[in-house]
Amino acid sequence: MFGARVIYDMLFFFVVIIIVLNLIFGVIIDTFADLRSEKQQKEEILKNTCFTCGLDRSQFDNKAVSFEDHIRHEHNMWHYLYFIVLVRVKDPTEFTGPESYVYAMVKVNFEFLKKKFLSLLLIS
Ligand SMILES: [Zn+2]
Repeated sequence: MFGARVIYDMLFFFVVIIIVLNLIFGVIIDTFADLRSEKQQKEEILKNTCFTCGLDRSQFDNKAVSFEDHIRHEHNMWHYLYFIVLVRVKDPTEFTGPESYVYAMVKVNFEFLKKKFLSLLLIS
């Protein structure tokens, strides 16, 4: 009788421990799966969308310029960043017309640009 009671109690604890551990592991695995899929989605967007203008890779099908040429030469995001840095570093009295325009725009909208470039750095 005593042995049966011990076995029953041990079974109860094993079942409870297994259920609780599976709940904890399930939450952990689920969180990692979510993080992984979110990262893959961001990488997919970065690979197939122009960072500057937001055009899709598919929109360059059957066009004279390919998506790679577009993101490398026409809308190279690093050239935009270099230009913004130049505008922020250069003396405002020596600006050309486009530089003073970009300076005014960056002053208004710099938080947006900072967030966009930071999100890019976090992905890569
Ligand atoms: Zn573009």
